[in-house]
Amino acid sequence: MRYRRACLADLLGDFVAYRSLRPQDPRLPGLPELQEELGLGEGIPRKGTRDYARVVIQILAAAQRLRGEELRRIVYLGDTRHNDGRTIAALGEFAPVRGFIAAEERGAPPAWEVREGVMYANRWGLMERFLEWLQEEGFPLEGDTAVVVDLDKTAFGARGRNSGPVDAARVAAAERIAGSVLGGEFDREGFRRAYRELNDPRYHRFTGDNQDLVVFAALVVASGAYALERLGDGVSAGRIRSFPEFLAACEGLPPGLAGLRGEVAGALARGDPTPFKAFRRLEYEETLARMDVHPDGTPPERVLTEEIVITPEVWGFAEEARAAGALLFGLTDKPDEASLPPQGREGPPLHRARMKILGVA
Ligand SMILES: [Mg+2]
Repeated sequence: MRYRRACLADLLGDFVAYRSLRPQDPRLPGLPELQEELGLGEGIPRKGTRDYARVVIQILAAAQRLRGEELRRIVYLGDTRHNDGRTIAALGEFAPVRGFIAAEERGAPPAWEVREGVMYANRWGLMERFLEWLQEEGFPLEGDTAVVVDLDKTAFGARGRNSGPVDAARVAAAERIAGSVLGGEFDREGFRRAYRELNDPRYHRFTGDNQDLVVFAALVVASGAYALERLGDGVSAGRIRSFPEFLAACEGLPPGLAGLRGEVAGALARGDPTPFKAFRRLEYEETLARMDVHPDGTPPERVLTEEIVITPEVWGFAEEARAAGALLFGLTDKPDEASLPPQGREGPPLHRARMKILGVA
């Protein structure tokens, strides 16, 4: 089998913004330029909040001005009910919006439902139905429509179908950093156990569901400086109420980890949502290392399991929207550190990395 290959930039150009909300196209304003105008404080607004939507609207409107168009409506493609659903609702305060959120559930019969302007589907293939629905709604894909495409687990690594390799890249990065900080002989099983446990929603009020903090806490546990049971008990009993409290309570950290604790604590104090940058830089390497790895002729099942590929349904929708004159914009909460080459290093940003385009095997 010969695979089709492309990079997202073939469709999006540099109309892409990662977590920092600084568009890759230098002609577009980003958070630093908009902060004052919008009366925003320091820090990066989190996805799904009203401030996040206000910044995105300004960026989209500026992109439309470059094209000599206005921003009259938005179509949003994503993969998570919570984050993407809230983002759609927040954008809806400023412009009419329709959304499509999918996660492949092979075990269940194909199903979709529409709620508050969003179609939720358990097959990426139901995107065809979404196109029909937009027509029924009289919601045209035209010059004054912006199509916002989430990247992580939507444009590539489709949730439920091809999201395994996206997660595997993160876990590989976490284990590499564990190896370098704790030494090659670190307790890999203990680290994995702690990572799995701390990823559980029970710990969200402690980690804020932030992978940087989950990985760092798992490192501390694997180093032997803080037992997992003690941490679990502390969080559920309310003795540890925040991550900075936990950091302050860690004693006897190995030297490498003690240095990182200072960095993480400092970034948290600044309101930086990506406090564990060394980990995220490895995630970038590991993610790139899973794109277009295998040669033509490799069975598609294997490619879907081991490689991160472009979602053909999203690609097709975007092609159609572009042909109809709509603006295409890639928007993702993926940290810039996990998506762009580190300063002075070679490598494409993820939206310029070549991938196979592959759907259901
Ligand atoms: Mg996503």
